[in-house]
Amino acid sequence: MQFKEIGEFGFIDKINIQTILSQKDIIKGIGDDCSVRRLSDGQVLLTTTDMLIDRVHFISQMIDPKDLGYKSLAVNLSDIAAMGGTPLDAYISLAIPAQTQVEYMQSFYEGMRELAMEQNINLMGGDTTSSIQDLVINIVVLGSMPESEVLFRNTAKPGDVIYVTGEIGNSAGGLDLLLNGKTPINDNERHLMGSHFRPYPYIREGRWLAETKRVNAMIDVSDGVASDLGHILKASQVGALIHFNKLPISEELKYYTQKHKRDILKLSLHTGEDYVLLFTSPLVNQKELMMAYHKQFGKSIYPIGEIQKEQEFFLQTNEGRESIHPRGWDHFKEI
Ligand code: ADP
Ligand code: MG
Repeated sequence: MQFKEIGEFGFIDKINIQTILSQKDIIKGIGDDCSVRRLSDGQVLLTTTDMLIDRVHFISQMIDPKDLGYKSLAVNLSDIAAMGGTPLDAYISLAIPAQTQVEYMQSFYEGMRELAMEQNINLMGGDTTSSIQDLVINIVVLGSMPESEVLFRNTAKPGDVIYVTGEIGNSAGGLDLLLNGKTPINDNERHLMGSHFRPYPYIREGRWLAETKRVNAMIDVSDGVASDLGHILKASQVGALIHFNKLPISEELKYYTQKHKRDILKLSLHTGEDYVLLFTSPLVNQKELMMAYHKQFGKSIYPIGEIQKEQEFFLQTNEGRESIHPRGWDHFKEI
């Protein structure tokens, strides 16, 4: 059997057997944005790791190394945010082709340090090796939070409202520009490109949402709303209805997709890297939660749909209701 037949998530399901051999204090192993280990005093340790490879996740000639450093750390911090945690320490491992300019990697660290300083993260270690062909970046981030507040993927409940914390599809628009060899020519396009190069990790927002105890389940949108909400639905054994006209799609993306005849649904639902948080919360909390969030952060959360008992996944558009396939970015499958 080849990887392209089962995809990334089919593979993870297959290897997820007998992985936890010493159960004591393990709250979550494989299957969420972070693993969760119980510490003393009601706190847990959150751990996450993500890898970025040249020509798979980025194109080294097309990204400023400072942006690459910023983004590599941001995508890891986002997984801590997705549990509601506080990130603490990062470890950076690099496999570097011998002909790489030292200055390129120094700039990479400058970008990473910029975000680390913004978020008060320690860069605590890592590993450096040579690579025969491509630059490989692997980051591990540790975080912590109170055990009673951890937000998992498998606890969404029928009747919950589904929210996202920001616009979706901008990063996909930026990537589309980049892959078509276009240089951004106006503020619209610069905005899309910026979202792709420097995703905002919703760390304070995730922490605040966890503290409210009003949220049932949460994930960060790395692979696309369809795919990442799909993980919540599968883990929680529920379904969902999403309303197309409620999706927070930016004016910049609308303009771009019209001008270049791109599929706005594909870019906003089935392509990833926006790194907004997607969470569910009972309907009774809606008004209070939306107002309190706005008061705290001066910006909105966007209700985009509802969790349903029937294990089906639908999109409501002006034309009617259509089934959504939870496909998004998968390393081994065509999307
Ligand atoms: P995310 O997109 O939030 O980083 P992933 O979709 O990459 O999460 O991974 C889903 C889950 O599978 C996570 O719990 C992750 O730790 C785990 N996982 C992914 N790849 C492997 C692997 N090769 N071995 C063990 N666990 C893995
Ligand atoms: Mg994640």
